[in-house]
Amino acid sequence: MMPLVQEVPAQVRSLERFVPLLGQTAVDEARALAQGLHERLAGGVIWNVNSTAVGGGVAEMLHSLLGYARGAGLDVRWLTIGGAPEFFRITKRLHHALHGEHGDGSALDEAAHHVYAKTLSRNAVELRELVRPGDVVLLHDPQPAGLAPMLLAAGARVLWRCHIGADETNEEVELGWRFLARYLDGVGCMIFSRQRYVPARYRDGRASIVQPSIDAFSAKNIELDEHTVRSILVHVGILEGPPPPSPRYAFVRSDGTPGRVERSADILRLGRASAWETPLVVQVSRWDPLKDMLGVLRGFSILVQNHAAPTVDLVLAGPNVRAVADDPEGPAVFEAVYRAFLEQPPAIRTHVHLAMLPTADVEENAVIVNALQRHATIVAQKSLHEGFGLTVTEAMWKARPVIASAVGGIQDQIEDGVSGVLLRDPTDLDTFAGELHRVLADRALAERLGAAARARVRERFLGIRHLVQYGAIIERLLV
Ligand code: UDP
Repeated sequence: MMPLVQEVPAQVRSLERFVPLLGQTAVDEARALAQGLHERLAGGVIWNVNSTAVGGGVAEMLHSLLGYARGAGLDVRWLTIGGAPEFFRITKRLHHALHGEHGDGSALDEAAHHVYAKTLSRNAVELRELVRPGDVVLLHDPQPAGLAPMLLAAGARVLWRCHIGADETNEEVELGWRFLARYLDGVGCMIFSRQRYVPARYRDGRASIVQPSIDAFSAKNIELDEHTVRSILVHVGILEGPPPPSPRYAFVRSDGTPGRVERSADILRLGRASAWETPLVVQVSRWDPLKDMLGVLRGFSILVQNHAAPTVDLVLAGPNVRAVADDPEGPAVFEAVYRAFLEQPPAIRTHVHLAMLPTADVEENAVIVNALQRHATIVAQKSLHEGFGLTVTEAMWKARPVIASAVGGIQDQIEDGVSGVLLRDPTDLDTFAGELHRVLADRALAERLGAAARARVRERFLGIRHLVQYGAIIERLLV
């Protein structure tokens, strides 16, 4: 039988890369912390356990954090657990519950506990072959949370890292926490992304707050010069123009091999390509109702009609809904945005571009998103609900002025009026249009917001800070 537990191979990435960004002292301090941990661990391993190696922010962060931790000399490894679809249906239900939503509305009852616990017991049998007493195990999110009692009994030091949460509690949130309490109450150390996401029962000193981070050197965030940005966007058809003279749309993959942005078969574009000189408002998101692409389109329409704005275009970009299997709502949301696009008067429609980006090659997708964010005059993230909002961090790192809703983790990233603009009421489209106009019309303001945004990400949201915080928490656990 196929093993349920799989090890994800990790690359080694050097912390040295951060010296030009953060200075030698910060890098030396991170290394010293890693060295101290290494000695404390005395040959022990730090294991990360989650349920997928691809797709989603958690997998993206683990790939890069693991690489840097290994580069600093720590034996950090990554395992994924497995289970039948029924197990993942229950954990998806739990995921929705912790966000305050009822998902498929199925019961989180004793029958669900039975499937959940039994699947994790089978995974635990395999894990016990790998994890030794004294090893540190970080369990990520609800899927592997139920392994905690078994791993603690086997002598491991267990941390639970929760990447999700809701600003306000409700019946669903309570239901989700009640389900998990049976497995998590014995865990003495937990990590959350926001203070408000910590449930009341764990506000007893066991919870630490660690905010997510981005990798400044991944295909999504690596510096691209203007020629490369232009080449990529012309090549994929988002910008108009003759095909670029040289194949500068090549990029370096994270394993060091060359990649190329191809005009993939699965890219789909609706609307007119934008001119290089035309200011561009961009939102990059999954086609999810909570990202409110529809609201961005309507707000943009108000901007063009009411504000006598200079010529401005809008790009709404997301993954190709025909290729993404794990987002069941995608096609319907795209359809709704497309219908709204068709209903716009021609004077608006010529300024709007809907793009579904290729998804088969994660790094090709990432470098297109990178180019789009870099070319944007304004990046919007008009979400109605957001866990953290990595798209906001990514745009801020690229020194873009971001106009985003004051929801979830976005509020921790943007200081309103300083490092971006926060929309108090994300459903107020007139205010959204007004803010777009204000930033478009004032180049100095846009530059000020962008520069402060980049500085804020450098200070708070780069991988090295994330690693140092993890290191300090694990160090306390080892004392
Ligand atoms: N993303 C992407 N391609 C797309 C749409 C989104 O690579 O077509 C990325 C985006 O750049 C970000 C992540 O998916 O890194 C989305 O993370 P975020 O926290 O913003 O929202 P989530 O999708 O996790 O709710």
